[in-house]
Amino acid sequence: MLFKKLSCLALIACSGCSTSGPYFLDLDISFSPKERDMIYEVIEDWKEATDSPDGEIIIEDLIVAPELPEEFSTETWDSYSNFILNVDSTSPGAWDIRNNEQASYVGWTEYLPNKRMIILTDLVEERATTDDGVLDKKKFRSFFKKVIRHEMGHIVNLSHEEDSTIMAGVADWETPDCIDQKTLDEFCDESLCGPNAHATCD
Ligand SMILES: [Zn+2]
Repeated sequence: MLFKKLSCLALIACSGCSTSGPYFLDLDISFSPKERDMIYEVIEDWKEATDSPDGEIIIEDLIVAPELPEEFSTETWDSYSNFILNVDSTSPGAWDIRNNEQASYVGWTEYLPNKRMIILTDLVEERATTDDGVLDKKKFRSFFKKVIRHEMGHIVNLSHEEDSTIMAGVADWETPDCIDQKTLDEFCDESLCGPNAHATCD
C-alpha cells in the first residue's frame, strides 16, 4: 500500500525565545469541537509523557482568535501566549506554503518569539480521504494528532529529529502515535520532567 506523505515545516530561526515552560497556549476557536478534543488529548499525552506538574508545561486557554492576518510571517499580534491556528489552505497566507517546493506542508510553527502553530486542517483531511472521496475518520484522527503532537514539540522548543520519532521533519503513517523515548529525552534534557516521565508508546 502506498502511503501518502505529509510534511511539516518549521521555521526554526529563534531569537530571544524562552527555553523553558510554562508554555501558554491559545487555541483558535474555529477548530471543530472534535478537533479541539484531539488537541487536548495531545496536550494530555505530552503532560503524561513528561510527568510535569499540572500547568507547568502547557496551560491551554480557549479564545476566539482575532481575524487572521494575511501574512503569517509578520508579527501583528501582541500576546504573551503561543497560538494554535486553524487555517484553510486556500487563504492568502497559506499561498506561500502551497506553492513552496514541498507543497504538501500541513502544519508548521513560526517563532516570533511567541510561537504560532498553523494547521491546514483541510489538507490533513485531504490526506485521509480515499480516491473515492470518502474521509477515513480513523486515519484523520491519527494524522491530525500526529501533526499536532509534532508541532507541539516545536512549541516546547524541540527541533527536527531523525525518522521514526515524532519530531522527524516529514511524517507519514508510520510516525509514532505517541511520545517516543528519544523525543522525551530531548525534552527532559532542557525542561522540567517529573520522576515518572515515560514514553507513551506501548
Ligand atoms: Zn516540524
